[in-house]
Amino acid sequence: MGRNIENKCEQCRRSGEKLFLKGERCYTPKCAIIKRNYAPGFHGPKGRKRLSDYGSQLAEKQKAKKFYGLFEKQFRLTFEKAAKKSGDAGKNFLRALEMRLDNVVYRLGWATSRAAARQLVNHGHFTVNGRKTDIASFAVKPGQLIKPKKSSETSPYFKNIMENLKKADRPSWLNLDQSNLSAKVLHEPVDSDLPQNLNVQVIIEYYSK
Ligand code: SF4
Repeated sequence: MGRNIENKCEQCRRSGEKLFLKGERCYTPKCAIIKRNYAPGFHGPKGRKRLSDYGSQLAEKQKAKKFYGLFEKQFRLTFEKAAKKSGDAGKNFLRALEMRLDNVVYRLGWATSRAAARQLVNHGHFTVNGRKTDIASFAVKPGQLIKPKKSSETSPYFKNIMENLKKADRPSWLNLDQSNLSAKVLHEPVDSDLPQNLNVQVIIEYYSK
């Protein structure tokens, strides 16, 4: 899979809000959105351009894609699958994005950013129901148990993870057993678990053209 080499803070500045792409730094005053909340470029803080309807839809889609750290093909495929399901297409889409294994690892506090979570998953540090699972897009299901694999549990990384676990704002659909370093998927994310900063209707309009 390719790698997005665009500067992470510039991605946030272009979107005009924190996308939490850099882990710990995002929670400090060093965050570029706190220091320079205007689009990157030579012209400095001139205010944001008014966008056409199409421009706003494109910008919202780009923001969501960066938020989850996905490339267009994967993002669109996730949308198309969600749109085929019955029910609210927007909520199905966000639910599918939230239930990716890399996002789950991030939401649990086992990584400080989605990019770090993806790397941990890709390097084979996690099991789902006891089976090593190294596919970041793996869709977790209610009832499944997620755990670092035995040899990873004793690594310095997981030994030092306790501070992150205390800080993480975990959603209601994931239950973490801190003492056993394991987590259970209780149910699919409910509406209040879905990110409130993404206007999914606008993204649907973009893909419906
Ligand atoms: Fe975005 Fe984090 Fe950089 Fe702030 S520090 S601009 S939230 S990536």
